[in-house]
Amino acid sequence: MNAQTLIPVAEARERILATITPTFPERVALSKALGRVLAEDVISQRMQPPADLSAMDGYAVRAADVTSVPARLRVVGEAAAGSAYALALNEGEAVRIFTGAPLPQGADTIVIQEDTERYGDIVIARESSPVARHVRPAGLDFKEGVTGLHAGRKLSPADIAFAAAMNVPVVIAHRRPKIAFFSTGNELVLPGATPGPNQIVSSNNDGLSALIEEAGGVPHDLGIVSDEAHAIQSAGRHALDCDMLVTLGGASVGDHDLVQSALSEDGLNVDFWRIAMRPGKPLMFGRYREMPMLGLPGNPVSALVCAHLFLVPAITRLQGGQVRLRTTQARLGRSLPENDRREDYLRASLEDAGNELPVATPFTRQDSSMLSLMSAADCLVIRAPHSPAAKAGDVVTVMPLR
Ligand code: AMP
Ligand code: MG
Repeated sequence: MNAQTLIPVAEARERILATITPTFPERVALSKALGRVLAEDVISQRMQPPADLSAMDGYAVRAADVTSVPARLRVVGEAAAGSAYALALNEGEAVRIFTGAPLPQGADTIVIQEDTERYGDIVIARESSPVARHVRPAGLDFKEGVTGLHAGRKLSPADIAFAAAMNVPVVIAHRRPKIAFFSTGNELVLPGATPGPNQIVSSNNDGLSALIEEAGGVPHDLGIVSDEAHAIQSAGRHALDCDMLVTLGGASVGDHDLVQSALSEDGLNVDFWRIAMRPGKPLMFGRYREMPMLGLPGNPVSALVCAHLFLVPAITRLQGGQVRLRTTQARLGRSLPENDRREDYLRASLEDAGNELPVATPFTRQDSSMLSLMSAADCLVIRAPHSPAAKAGDVVTVMPLR
């Protein structure tokens, strides 16, 4: 490929996703299944409710016996959740009933407690109640054998409760993909160290680790690697049992940007390495031996923005999930000049505006090294290549970051 070719962001993402296949399925207990993507449907093992149940505390009666009120009925027994009244209800009879208890045979409605007066064995119904009122019929929620949750679904807390109710304690989900990564740079030290006069603290390792985890992957931090080919190659080999390799820094064309050349000598086939975006033009993607390899820029903001745009979707695909870029609309909080040929991702605040679209205000400084602004950003304002100048109030597309 021509070294000058800049690939559009969407095409780069498509090319990355096209090479990625989901991890193998495994059995996962519900207690560990939050955020996991189903590899197989969840089939209901029972009907819920299993019988007609009372939805209220009160008296189970025949609706015909309470059409004219007050009605006087004889209380012949009791039904609580987990225990039924064993006999059938006859004309003029009532059974004291509690929420979740099975409706006795012959009863077809509930008179709620608040509408009754009780005198020993006698209950007076002050209000009538039509057939089926306050009754949850058998199978109202779901039937046995139905597909409650479909393969490909990312499990929410409610989904997990639903699977439990279907009496499915273990689901089949894709394995969480293991993502190996390392930073390159002779200037870098780990957080907590005492940096030398020309050194800086690596922010990318911990930042990327957190993002991988948030996306559903298992981070495998290989640390900091010096700007030397053999060190980069050695680090790469430590990633070979993982599902994907991510490098940070050294992806550009400077004398010390060795990732591409070092790994290319060791089994890397580069697909592309320049993208028409800002921040993050030098972004590399290829196949390192068997695994997908993403080379992120070293500038901390570029690294995180590119990880949001390319790595998070890749992790979603590895997990068997459906990639959907979460974008929404907002109104600009200030004017912007026309854009050049690179798609721009501007760090911005996002303010709620009641019933109107929220207001996104890009920060005046957009330096791709400034983590204080990345941390303060609520969203990225996305500007297509060659967007004309925009004024405050214009509608723009934003990608929320939190
Ligand atoms: P590079 O992509 O290696 O040319 O790095 C671009 C810029 O990002 C340089 O100023 C590096 O010092 C900085 N940088 C690279 N890696 C990291 C890192 N892990 N944490 C913080 N800054 C970094
Ligand atoms: Mg570097």
